[in-house]
Amino acid sequence: MTEPALSHRLLVIDDDEAVAELLGDIAYGYGFQTDVASTAAQIDELAGVGHDLVLLDLTLGDTDGLQVMRLLRKRQPGVALILLTGADRTVLSSAQRVAELSGFRVVGACSKPVDIDELGALFEESKQAVVKDDTGAIRRLSDVALAALDAGQVHLLYQPKVDLESRIITGAEALVRLSVPGFETVSPGAWIPFIEAAGRSRRLLDLVLQRAAEDRRNFPALAELGEVSVNLSVLDLDDLELPDHIKSVLSGGADPQRWTLEITESAETGQLADALDVLTRFRLLGFRLAMDDFGTGTSTFERLRVYPFNELKINRLFVHTDRGGVDHTRAMLRAAVDLGVALELKVVVEGVESASELTLVDEVGCDAVQGYLVSRPVAPEHFGQAQLDWDRRRSQPV
Ligand code: C2E
Ligand code: MG
Ligand code: MG
Repeated sequence: MTEPALSHRLLVIDDDEAVAELLGDIAYGYGFQTDVASTAAQIDELAGVGHDLVLLDLTLGDTDGLQVMRLLRKRQPGVALILLTGADRTVLSSAQRVAELSGFRVVGACSKPVDIDELGALFEESKQAVVKDDTGAIRRLSDVALAALDAGQVHLLYQPKVDLESRIITGAEALVRLSVPGFETVSPGAWIPFIEAAGRSRRLLDLVLQRAAEDRRNFPALAELGEVSVNLSVLDLDDLELPDHIKSVLSGGADPQRWTLEITESAETGQLADALDVLTRFRLLGFRLAMDDFGTGTSTFERLRVYPFNELKINRLFVHTDRGGVDHTRAMLRAAVDLGVALELKVVVEGVESASELTLVDEVGCDAVQGYLVSRPVAPEHFGQAQLDWDRRRSQPV
């Protein structure tokens, strides 16, 4: 049997040494060289010595997973994490949320006893962040993302938004990708935190705006859409000149009325007054504004009340029925949609993956949906085909 090439470094943190060793053995088969930390002293010694992935048990003897996260945040900010727990799923999903809000790249979460295939799939997925280049050298996601940004190597994929009543595709969201072999499929959710931490989010925004305007000029299927949205980081909102800049770039693709700016609320806005000034000027210039990922970030209600949004995008967690069952999901979704309707916002539900989720959304009623059921994000040259495919499927009887 040939030895696997150990190209990635894993830290297993589990107070049960036998389990930790076993996890290390499984990881070996996936090309990980493993360190094991079972006590607080070992964790302190090993955390931050350049691991590509940390497998973290939440229930530890003399400390716990959340305390370890605080330590890791200082020593290895943004490292990839897989969470493990014997506690129930609600604890696991809360811990996952803490990890995401702390800027870690959460690859996944597993309940104990661990399903080996599930864990193996997560090991494979985590390796996307660390890829060998043509010369065989290991490249880390943070380095790749920053270099790509310098070289302007990013492109946009477009995901359709469907009007719920007519079932017609009326808009699209532009989602950024790295144009670097081996890294095209890595979610921007995994690398944008590095860009933001390096203070380069404005460079990303400039590239995205340019590409979006070009794509809309060059591809008729996008040019004809009522609206295309681009994502902005709240960190960008501290520049009072931003509205004029965005207008000058995006107007080359379509009028401001046909662009939506989606603001994610995952990071804290520095200056509320500046952000409010910038957002209000966007509206005065004619742009549409959407609050993205409603229900998952910080100070959601306050921002919804204060900022001049036109649209509310409800995060996909609200349509998934894996936690609490369908009644629970329906109640949460209905409450979120009702809030948007009461505030006279266009309400879009994101992440609709299945026909049953679409039925749920239909029951609750909202304005538009977006999700894999309609189409995955596609390259601009394939958007017309994605529209045709959806039109064919939606007119077929179920
Ligand atoms: P977002 O703006 O909420 O975008 C929706 C994300 O959900 C996209 O992930 C999309 O691929 C994914 N998605 C759509 N439908 C489904 C579905 O049915 N099921 C599942 N599981 N996922 C679905 P993506 O492209 O990986 O982007 C992740 C996040 O990265 C975005 O979340 C957005 O916050 C950020 N992002 C993307 N592009 C940009 C950008 O150009 N600039 C900035 N600042 N952030 C961006
Ligand atoms: Mg978005
Ligand atoms: Mg979203």
